[in-house]
Amino acid sequence: MLDGYSRAVADLFLNRWQNYENPGKLAQDIVECEKCPRLRAYAKIAARNRPKRFADWIYWGKPVPGFGDLNARVLIIGLAPASSGALRTGRIFTGDASSRFLVRALHSAGFANQAISESVEDGLEYTDCYLTAAVKCAPPGDKPTGEEFDNCSPYLDAEISLLRNLKVVLALGSMAFRAYVEHLTKSGVEVGRTKFAHGVVYRFPRMPALYASYHPSPRNTNTGKLTPAMLLDVLTRIKGELGPVEHISGPTRRPLGPVA
Ligand code: SF4
Repeated sequence: MLDGYSRAVADLFLNRWQNYENPGKLAQDIVECEKCPRLRAYAKIAARNRPKRFADWIYWGKPVPGFGDLNARVLIIGLAPASSGALRTGRIFTGDASSRFLVRALHSAGFANQAISESVEDGLEYTDCYLTAAVKCAPPGDKPTGEEFDNCSPYLDAEISLLRNLKVVLALGSMAFRAYVEHLTKSGVEVGRTKFAHGVVYRFPRMPALYASYHPSPRNTNTGKLTPAMLLDVLTRIKGELGPVEHISGPTRRPLGPVA
């Protein structure tokens, strides 16, 4: 039996996204996507010009789908894969400083089985939590264009439609926040005045609560704008809102990352 939110999403997307009842098919379509020539070209350049410390890596170099518990009640949305992180490792929030900061906090809050997120082979699994990015390709300077956001938004819509137990969305940074608000608007939700701020929470009828946090990028964490305690506080509030797990967690979807 679907609850109100799940029914609303299912009704909205069943016809449009019926091909995506299968998360594997969605992930495959994301990985093969070529809609943004600038970003696809940048991936090749970044892989070719990789830093010395990653000279031995075979870069993933493709779009990066979301990763986590398909029965999750919490969806975490970042901006985009990092050039030396997910673009390299093939798994979202894996292998860079932002990932380490975030996954340590997720482990402390009980959403991750370990505090390490370095490669697709590291054994990381999430419980009650699914991570994705608003834009699935790494952008130069961490700045996707408006057109690239728009091109990629159907994939975010489709991922959300597959997460049938969602109760909370946590947007990391103002761009991810805006991407999710646009998803709500497209879904017919009257969002009213929403403004990004760290720790803010918005509630909409029959929709997940929307929390916001500063993005755990080095420019925020190295300057103390976002501290481990601040992020853990947001995650702890979310955990408190969820209450006990009411469902059996699903498999952590295997990423389609590089194998060597
Ligand atoms: S950013 Fe999204 S829409 Fe653009 S090429 Fe990558 S996966 Fe496709």
